[in-house]
Amino acid sequence: LTPEPGEYDVVVVGGGQAGLAAGYFLRRSGLTHVILDAEHRPGGSWQHYWDSLRLFSAAEHSPLPGWWMPEQEGEEYPTADHVVRYLTAYEKRYALPVRRPVRVTAVRRAGRRLAVESDAGTWRARAVVSATGTWRAPYVPHYPGRDVFAGRQWHTVDYRRPDPFAGQRVLVVGGGNSAAQILAELSLVADTVWATLRPPRFLPDDVDGRVLFDAATRQLRARAAGADGDGGTGEQPGGIVVVPPVREARERGVLKAEPVFARLTERGAVWPDGTAHDFDAVLWCTGFRPVLDHLAPLGLRGPHGRIATEGTRSTAEPRLHLVGYGDWTGPASATIIGAGRAARNAVAEITAALRADP
Ligand code: FAD
Repeated sequence: LTPEPGEYDVVVVGGGQAGLAAGYFLRRSGLTHVILDAEHRPGGSWQHYWDSLRLFSAAEHSPLPGWWMPEQEGEEYPTADHVVRYLTAYEKRYALPVRRPVRVTAVRRAGRRLAVESDAGTWRARAVVSATGTWRAPYVPHYPGRDVFAGRQWHTVDYRRPDPFAGQRVLVVGGGNSAAQILAELSLVADTVWATLRPPRFLPDDVDGRVLFDAATRQLRARAAGADGDGGTGEQPGGIVVVPPVREARERGVLKAEPVFARLTERGAVWPDGTAHDFDAVLWCTGFRPVLDHLAPLGLRGPHGRIATEGTRSTAEPRLHLVGYGDWTGPASATIIGAGRAARNAVAEITAALRADP
């Protein structure tokens, strides 16, 4: 199945979970479509996550549309490998027209169509769904001394397993789920210090991804009914999910966070009160930005590098929809379960728009 460059109703850029969810609904829409993905294999960025990663929800709470993720034997919270197998089987099951590896380099206006340029040719579409995720745009904040530190500096994207840090002193920066999960195993083989901008917020032990998704849904409904902010629900969706390895690390006492340092030096870091520590390595678990370079010719990016959307649709270029990325394209749109809802909305709007303009 190798969809060739040419004219299609819809081109989906990115074949991770968000792109596949869009494919699921497009398959039922009767519109011609293709999914272009830069990877060599199925699985989106899940194939690059660290070996010990655990989902923060059970399999039954991480479904894509149509077919539930199977349970993983012996694991309540599935591994990244398990998600890769699920996505691989999912695109096969629905015979989704994914072509890879194809890297989309630019999306441009071309009269009544959008031209999708890539290293494998140019596709022309009446609508484009961008679903390129965030993994290829790691974010490292600027701190003085970052360029003089003589040790190793890695980002979450470089980390697969703790062995390269065995016996070393490692500074882990960042207050989210990635930092907490990586620290949990790194602290077994290395001497770790954890630095966070704000005190980390651990969710209650019985709260997992499912509860967070439900909270995001309640906020969406309340906001749709006219409420502001958290929709009057008093709930904050963010926070660290205490999956079993994180709970174990907390019990070992290694999840105590320090405030963030003032600067890095050649040998380590210095805190505002003058305290200094030497480190062999700094691990930046400081997050990601949306991968939107291919959309640059459309000139849509506003403050914070985001594209203004109404639901999933770009307000300035209505032929473009964004799925995944984060809450700004739909609540929990960057989670497995949330991708389905965002994709369904995007495809419904595209179908209505294309039918209205045959
Ligand atoms: P991706 O999986 O990144 O897929 C995007 C695809 O687009 C990739 O295949 C990429 O190669 C391709 N691409 C990018 N640029 C181009 C281009 N120019 N041309 C063609 N193709 C391109 N969510 C949960 O629901 N539960 C969890 O427990 C959970 N844990 C997470 C843990 C970590 C460490 C991280 C980082 C995320 C986690 N998430 C979790 C969030 C979310 O599910 C993932 O980030 C998810 O991979 C996002 O899917 P996506 O399809 O939007 O992007």
